[in-house]
Amino acid sequence: MGDPEWEPVSEVIVDTHIHLIRPFDSLGRPQAYTPGPGASAEDYVALMGKWGIDRAFYISWSPEDIPSDLEGKGLTMESVRDVLSRGYALEVMDTFPDRFYWFPCHLGPRVHGYLETARSSLELGAAGMKLVPSFWGELPDDRRLMPVYDLADEYGAHIILDTSFWYLGKDAPADPETLPAGHREVAKRIRDFQDYVSHLRSVVASHSDVNFSLAHAGARAFTTDNARQAGQLIREYPNLYADLGALASPRHSGTIASLVEAAGEDRIMFGTDWPHFAQADAMGQAVDCIRCNEDLSRKARRMVLGGNALRFVEGRAPGLR
Ligand SMILES: [Zn+2]
Repeated sequence: MGDPEWEPVSEVIVDTHIHLIRPFDSLGRPQAYTPGPGASAEDYVALMGKWGIDRAFYISWSPEDIPSDLEGKGLTMESVRDVLSRGYALEVMDTFPDRFYWFPCHLGPRVHGYLETARSSLELGAAGMKLVPSFWGELPDDRRLMPVYDLADEYGAHIILDTSFWYLGKDAPADPETLPAGHREVAKRIRDFQDYVSHLRSVVASHSDVNFSLAHAGARAFTTDNARQAGQLIREYPNLYADLGALASPRHSGTIASLVEAAGEDRIMFGTDWPHFAQADAMGQAVDCIRCNEDLSRKARRMVLGGNALRFVEGRAPGLR
């Protein structure tokens, strides 16, 4: 063997935070949501082959889930409805049943019949659901969201929750009135990160059979202090995890190690937030910032790259029923 750093240390690599966009709308026009590099299931599967990624958590949304994102990109909901559709997600799951665990969103307050849609997705075999409450002007303990957690419990499914804290103007102070709708209402109701998570603790504690993943490790400026705070919170609850979406990069290697040290080796999951991040060769760097991270033990690298994701979904196979 050559350099021991390059020995494979993971039996399975799982990217626990990706999105897939239909490449063309129903009129044959190229998708406008992420113009530029490919963002389709085929594009991602090609990258999986190139970089040795076995499986991924596929998060799909409807335009109504992410209004401030579309507003920031200057897009109308209608212009991206075809390419962000639940229908595309189901096509992808049918085409690549061995690759993806499905974590549908489609839960925004403006999505008609959101609870019926959620139940139908779970009936089809979704592994869980993704929540972006800050985009909806809600905190995690909003009354409207309680039935979503109960549904996850009923179906043995799990929750990816994005605090979107980095949009709330707290770490870098901003007047709530200057924030987009949704984030603005949440920003007015909380002081800081600990105040925000006081609205999450009871949800995680009262649904102990549901695993929760904090997207982007809490979605804050990724400093060592913030990573330790997130890690300490995770450590308090056996069913709380975090993904590294948008953070898996060589420049964050040390901070990732601090996060793993605080949270424990069994909670932090490799993730990229592709196609927003980790396009092309950056995907290899994202994998290597774990695989070759000298601040992590060999066991920790293996767990972060894939073992913890398999724990999160409790060993279930990808695909739908
Ligand atoms: Zn994302």
